[in-house]
Formats: sequence, structure tokens, C-alpha cells
Amino acid sequence: MKLVPHWVSGSEFAGNGARRGEVFDPAKGIQSKEVAFADQSDIDASVAAASAAFPSWRDTSLAKRSAIMFRFRELLDAKKGELAEIITEEHGKVVSDALGEISRGLEVVDFACGLPHLLKGEYSENASTSIDVYSMKQPLGVVGIISPFNFPAMVPMWFFPVAIAAGNTVVLKPSEKDPSSAMWIARLLSEAGLPDGVFNVLHGDKVAVDGLLEHPEVRSISFVGSTPIAQYIYETAAKNGKRVQALGGAKNHMLVLPDADLDLVADSAVNAGFGSAGERCMAISVVVAVEPVADDLIPKISERMKQIKVGDGRRSCDMGPLVTKQHRDKVASYIDIAASDGAEVVVDGRDVNPDGDAGGYWLGPTLIDRVPLTSKVYREEIFGPVLSVVRVASYEEGLELINSGAFGNGTAIFTNDGGAARRFQHEVEVGMIGINVPIPVPVAYFSFGGWKHSLFGDSRAHGEEGFRFFTQTKVVTSRWLDPSHGGLNLGFPQN
Ligand code: NAD
Repeated sequence: MKLVPHWVSGSEFAGNGARRGEVFDPAKGIQSKEVAFADQSDIDASVAAASAAFPSWRDTSLAKRSAIMFRFRELLDAKKGELAEIITEEHGKVVSDALGEISRGLEVVDFACGLPHLLKGEYSENASTSIDVYSMKQPLGVVGIISPFNFPAMVPMWFFPVAIAAGNTVVLKPSEKDPSSAMWIARLLSEAGLPDGVFNVLHGDKVAVDGLLEHPEVRSISFVGSTPIAQYIYETAAKNGKRVQALGGAKNHMLVLPDADLDLVADSAVNAGFGSAGERCMAISVVVAVEPVADDLIPKISERMKQIKVGDGRRSCDMGPLVTKQHRDKVASYIDIAASDGAEVVVDGRDVNPDGDAGGYWLGPTLIDRVPLTSKVYREEIFGPVLSVVRVASYEEGLELINSGAFGNGTAIFTNDGGAARRFQHEVEVGMIGINVPIPVPVAYFSFGGWKHSLFGDSRAHGEEGFRFFTQTKVVTSRWLDPSHGGLNLGFPQN
């Protein structure tokens, strides 16, 4: 069985830990690789490599850092097809969607190429007589990044280009379910000229994560994953004195007003509900239909669902399998829960006939109408191709529903009424909002992150907030003495 090793100091490192994780090909339903699981000595080795590389990387000129970032950007763009195949083989999403994920990650690399501008400080001449005050942004040191399975390339790219550009060194702990993308990226960064030890990959489970959370030389943690783990990461990292941003789960609602273009709504609900088999933190999982639209909208959605070709992502399909058998079975169990809670299963994805091996972790697109608000189907993040419909009487009822949810990652409104859309963007308690756009993932020069239980900590990913997260500011107050300096003064300078 092929082993996915760690990446430490610019080379593969099998590690000392004896434990291994299984990596599956979800479209075939077979184990394809095993991945090394770090023990304490492997954690120490990866952090030591990043610590050793830090002083000279911090002192590398902005011009050299940005040249490496540009080379990485060009190589990634040229070779992205290779990475997309790796993503599809381990995650299951179709190749075109894997390419889409890489493009969104590339945007952050583009953004990080502008690092000299983003790292500029401020300067006030003569803040007091003959005293100048200026600020500078310096890197933190070794930073830890812990990423989820659903975007094995894009989510690490939300953080490491910014962290590295700002002069930090990185230990990335990718998801153990699809660990090979991180290794491919590590090799590419080396090819782009990144010095050894600036980017390291540590594989594993809770042991590896806890090792980073506890390690005194790790200065910050950037985490993306489910809400219970995000909360644990936030609390533990903060308790250990680290800077932390922990992005959690989601349950994203699409509010449909009666004046909306229902064909656009149906296209958007299907694309945003079933793209990547619903394994996206910005997937739409609940359509909130303001009556009387539901009766017209549901047939339009079900009609489009019939056209979705489910199958092996390497073939010409629209939607791949779920990531593991366990996850597939968990998602499918919500269909039974819906039926027993009195909801109406309009399309049952368990009846799917996929274009792929029988052993694959298949579940077709599923549509459930009249989902009770008390049902787990409404209340929990399902993270699969299950789209719920909830009917409400008014805009106000829909807004109240969205605002009373535990999550606040993304939401969308579909309407032709500019006033209603403007009111929604003001009143809704969610971090990322789409207006007639179903998956409102901000471009890289804005920041990504939700509200409430979708983000613990006060910094979102990339954009200016990303640079702020990965730097610390020093303010210098300076006076170069001239012959006229005079006398004692125990108070603050007044002029
Ligand atoms: P997960 O929480 O199971 O795992 C995320 C990371 O945490 C992985 O690296 C994993 O190894 C590690 N981990 C798992 N259990 C742990 C534990 N007990 N202690 C310490 N570390 C642990 O998430 P996932 O299933 O890989 O990804 C899906 C989740 O991520 C969904 O909830 C989704 O909404 C969320 N997500 C959120 C965003 C966002 O931007 N808010 C983006 C992508 C995914």
C-alpha cells in the first residue's frame, strides 16, 4: 500500500509514528493509500524545521519573497490539471470542480503576490516636535494551519500564501481523508524556490492537531472544519496563548421572494445545493420559499435534478460520490429522519444509478419539502446532496428564521426588488451574502468568514484581515537628537 509521508525541511519524511490512516478512492470504494499519522516526535520535527527556517525567511527581502510567490503562481497555473486529478481521486468531486477549487486558491496566491504593498507600515513625521512615529508589520514565526477534507487545495491556499508572503513559516496539517494534495503543493513550492523548512506538512489525526495546539513555538492556528472541533481549537489555542482563527460549519439558507425569476432560482438552488455533492461550507442546504412560490419552484428544481449525471469524477459527470462510506451512510440517514418527522421526500437520492463502480459511496441529489423546523434535517449541518425546502408566509418570517439559526456562514436572497435586497443585506445576521448569487464566496482581496458558530475568533481568511492575522505590528517612536534638546520633563510631550 502506497504511503503518503510527511513533508519536513523540503523532503518526504516517513516519520516515527507507527499509526497509519486509510485513504480511499470514493468512486471505487476501495482503499488506495495509507497516510502516516504523526506522533510527538514527528510533531516536534516539523515544528523544529519551521522554527529553524524562520529567521532567514523573515529576513528575506520582500522582492525575493514576492518573486517566489510569482513563480509558484505560474507553476500552479501550468500544472493545475495534475492537482485536480489528485483531488478527484481522494475526495471524489468531478475534475472540473476540482479545477474550480484550484482557481479560487490561485486567486489568493495572486493576492499574496502583492505582499510588498500589503506589508507597508505607516509613518508620521513630527508627531511631537522632532519626534517621528512609525509602524511596521512583522511575521509571527511558526504558524499552524489545520484544514478539512472538502477543499484539500483551496482551504490551505486561503492561508499559507498569505502566511508565507508575510514572512512566517508553516506547518500544515491537512485532512487525513485526502492528504496528497498538500504533498503535491509542497513539492511545487520547493520547485518555485521556497527554502526548505518554510512550508511543512504534518499528517495525522487529533494527536497531530493537539501537538500543534500545545507546542510553544507555534504562534498561531488557522483552522477550518466542523463547528464542534472549531470551538475546541479556538478555546485550546487561546488558552495556550496563541492567535487563532477557527472557521466552523454552516447551514446556508436561500430566501426566495415571490417576485424572483424562478428559473434562475431553480438553476441556482441545484448548482449550489448539489455541486461537489453538497460537501461545501457555502452550499445552499435550505430553500426558504416565501409563499406562494414553493408550488411553482419545486417542480422546476426536481426537473433539473433529473438532468444531474452522478458518477466517477474522472468520467463526464456532474456530481461525484461522497468522501467516505461512513459519511455517505450518515447523510443518507437524514432521508429516513425527514420522512419520520413528517417531511415530504420529493426526490430520494438513494435511488441513484451512478456511472461508476458499484462499491462507490454514491448518493444522488435529494429534495425534501415541508421540513419541520424541529427536525434534525433542518437543524443540523448535513454536508451532503440533500436540499430542504421550508415554506414561510413573508419576508419577515424568512429573515427571522435565518437569523435564529446557530450558524451564520453564507446566505442568499433571490428577488427583483432592489429595496428588499438592500433591506436583507442590512438585516441578516450572516457573514457572506449573495443577491441573486447562490454561493457568495468573496474574491481573495476581500476576506472569507462567517458569523456566530461559523467562525470563532475575530479574523477571517485572506484579504487584508489575513495579512493582519499573520503579522504583528511594532510602533516605533524615534528622536534623533540635535544640539537644542533640552532639560528634564517628566510628563508626556505636549507639542
Ligand atoms: P472536521 O472538523 O472533521 O476536520 C477538520 C480538521 O480537524 C481535520 O484536519 C481533522 O483531522 C481535524 N480533526 C478532526 N477531529 C478532530 C478532533 N477531535 N480533534 C482535533 N482535530 C480534529 O471537518 P471535515 O469533515 O474535514 O470538513 C467538513 C466540515 O468543515 C464541515 O462542517 C464544513 O462546514 C466545514 N468547513 C467550513 C468552512 C468554512 O469556511 N467555514 C470551509 C470548509 C469546510
